[in-house]
Amino acid sequence: MLLKGFVVGVSSFVLIGCGASKKVTIAPKKESLVRMTPQDTLTKVEEIVKVEVPKTVDTTVFHALRELTPEEKVKEQKGGGVYKGADWAAAIHYDLRKPNFVIIHHTAQNNIAQTVRTFQVPHSKVSAHYVIGRDGQIIQMLNDYERAWHAGKSKWGNIDDLNSVSLGIELDNNGKEPFPNAQINSLLILLDTLKAKYLIPQLNFIGHADIAPMRKDDPSVLFPWKLLAERGFGIWYNEDYLMMPPANFNPIDALKIMGYDMRNQEGAIRAFKRKYIVKEVNGVLTAHDQAVLYDLYRKYF
Ligand SMILES: [Zn+2]
Repeated sequence: MLLKGFVVGVSSFVLIGCGASKKVTIAPKKESLVRMTPQDTLTKVEEIVKVEVPKTVDTTVFHALRELTPEEKVKEQKGGGVYKGADWAAAIHYDLRKPNFVIIHHTAQNNIAQTVRTFQVPHSKVSAHYVIGRDGQIIQMLNDYERAWHAGKSKWGNIDDLNSVSLGIELDNNGKEPFPNAQINSLLILLDTLKAKYLIPQLNFIGHADIAPMRKDDPSVLFPWKLLAERGFGIWYNEDYLMMPPANFNPIDALKIMGYDMRNQEGAIRAFKRKYIVKEVNGVLTAHDQAVLYDLYRKYF
């Protein structure tokens, strides 16, 4: 079956290698609109590489070839999503996958302009869907359906590629200051919209430190997780009445069931305490901490 409207938009690259710049044209010259199967697309890419790369150039040329625009990278990635061992018969019922988690960060930077620039310069290799300023300004930097690079190496439950299933929200905050009301109010309004639009479960609003406890500590202890939980984003415990857990309660198992990566227990406990205990953020669970954990475990899991 033919794919309609596949646009070959790549026109040329400047190749830098062996001390010389060379402009290489790689797209058809006459037509910008062609009809081809996905397999054809792959074949075309292979042909382009075979035909256009001179045999004498070194690997820097190949690197230059890979410095594509974001749109070209996505097109190339989609080409890789076609299994060569299969025949192609296109289904007509589909849409884009939707996000199922929200990961909250603080930027650890001094102002929102600095963060926006970080997500736009080529070398940073990081991004987020939203940045929220101290004054409550919300800036969207990627479509919700696109995969931002905000989680990095991470794990939550059995998911080890959080970028593929989540939206990333960065709060402009240096990590040591309180989060202003205007910023939190904007966050709550945005979360309301996202939760309703994508049917994101309450338990799936979590922090960067939850999913990467050995590398990250954001958002900081000053982030109001209790307020968020009261509004339906994330969870909180009953502060007025805590039961002591039964003798057979295993806090390590409970943390694992909540989603924490327990390969490093101290790191996971530290992340738990930063979020729920706030004071004395360390790798040791006191009797009080265990009671908090038990309350959360009983209520939500
Ligand atoms: Zn972060």
